[in-house]
Amino acid sequence: MPDCVFCAIASGAIPADLVAETDTTLAFRDLDPKADVHVLVIPRAHFDNLGAVAAADPATAAAMITTAAGVAAAEGVADSGYRLIANTGAGGGQTVFHAHLHLLAGSRLPGF
Ligand code: AMP
Ligand code: ZN
Repeated sequence: MPDCVFCAIASGAIPADLVAETDTTLAFRDLDPKADVHVLVIPRAHFDNLGAVAAADPATAAAMITTAAGVAAAEGVADSGYRLIANTGAGGGQTVFHAHLHLLAGSRLPGF
């Protein structure tokens, strides 16, 4: 997708601090971290949001969650706990319209 920053990361056109990759997903550190651990997990292919991934390619949606769980283990937060967030649409706080999961962990996260 032209002008999509996460497509540019997936193609290698712009750099990212990669922490994991699979055939269908990539994980890299957020440029502006909101927690001690803040990693983004994306599908390599462009979808506008997580719901669109699940509708079109449920295996890739599941792979995003599995990749996130693997990153949590690698970061040492699988046991202490972590949060997965998928902001969807402008009203949900989404600013990059390529599907992604935020993996947040570290010091205790605030409740809702
Ligand atoms: P959202 O607001 O849910 O769409 O989240 C988009 C996230 O992408 C934000 O937390 C940004 O800090 C992050 N972000 C934007 N551009 C980049 C980039 N080039 N590399 C890493 N993270 C980025
Ligand atoms: Zn994209």
